[in-house]
Amino acid sequence: MKKRNCPICQSLNSKLIMPVVLKNFDNIKTPLSTRVSECLDCGFIFNDNEIDVELLNGFYTNDNYYFVENSFGTGGKDVSRYEMYEKILDPYINKQDVIVDVGCGKAQFVKYLIDQGYSNTCGVELDKRMCQIAIGQGIPVEEGSSSKLPFGSMSVDLLVYTHVFEHLWDLDYDIEQVRGCLKDDGFIFIEVPNAMNYSSARVFDYFWFSMPEHINHFNEHYLEMLMVRHKFKKIMSIETIMPYNNPLYGYPSLMMIFRKVESDSEIIIENKCNSKLKNCIDIYISNENEKVSEHQFIIKGLVDSKIKVFVWGIGIEFFSLITFTELLSCNIVALIDKNLDKQNMTVGDRNIFSPERLKQAGADSVVLLTSVFNEEQMRKYLKEISFNGRILVLN
Ligand SMILES: [Zn+2]
Repeated sequence: MKKRNCPICQSLNSKLIMPVVLKNFDNIKTPLSTRVSECLDCGFIFNDNEIDVELLNGFYTNDNYYFVENSFGTGGKDVSRYEMYEKILDPYINKQDVIVDVGCGKAQFVKYLIDQGYSNTCGVELDKRMCQIAIGQGIPVEEGSSSKLPFGSMSVDLLVYTHVFEHLWDLDYDIEQVRGCLKDDGFIFIEVPNAMNYSSARVFDYFWFSMPEHINHFNEHYLEMLMVRHKFKKIMSIETIMPYNNPLYGYPSLMMIFRKVESDSEIIIENKCNSKLKNCIDIYISNENEKVSEHQFIIKGLVDSKIKVFVWGIGIEFFSLITFTELLSCNIVALIDKNLDKQNMTVGDRNIFSPERLKQAGADSVVLLTSVFNEEQMRKYLKEISFNGRILVLN
């Protein structure tokens, strides 16, 4: 297995800090393991997965959770987030500027900018299905990726990368593509999950390590270190907790703008090791371990009682539970998910059924809800079908 260099300082001197491999659907085309590591030279935290660029791109083409309508990251109808991006970007852009949203998904931010009068805006997306959805709605989207930007040299004023950099395997290569496409003095806007706030934006056990495609865990210091190495100057930085569509939860957002510069003398390089990120990650791991122990205890109770269990929500939270607890040893009657793609897959040779199946759950059953974002709708449905057993939520 090829070891991954630290994407910030290129060192090969790293230490595995979370060796757990998260469970997933059976026969998934692109198995990704989560191996969270610490660079012993610069202190950056990144995943040293046994993958490469091609495998990772295959994951997005074949096994992309983001295609699911209500998943984190798809954007959906998230207008308040777009308004915030526009407000942040406003001092640096004009309505005629060439603006490109890279990894645009269904291109809803592109549509938003065009509606605001930014007429030279388009998106780039790797997933053909998403491209077709966007193009079908008349939104200009080109097929491509951060390593294959379909633009001429020095042709773009602003490149937008929201929720992309945490996924990139070869950051050095991709940032050089960015440099090539940007006009002199062009800007890049980057938003990533802020690893300093994983603890304060807790969603579920090890949630922020549970997306195997999130392979870089940034904070402001390391994102700047990386960009400075490629001759970008920091223009501004904002840290906030950005609300999801479900207002009970938010994600830890780090937004930064950098400007392309020609000379190193324009930037102050602070290439020092910084222990702040590692300290935050240590606290995060220790908090999550505590939660995992609580959940192991509750699940053990279900196993011992042999009570019938319906598990509803086959996503990140579920896979975290089956990795860290004995959930699959319970007397599981059915796994349930409303997503039709998931209903064609299996977990531990168990089929996944539509929520209709819950009508078979009697008073002697437990329905375990394993989708924190959809708990309210799930409870509503169980009420509608007059479920009178026990509802269990772990959070
Ligand atoms: Zn490093």
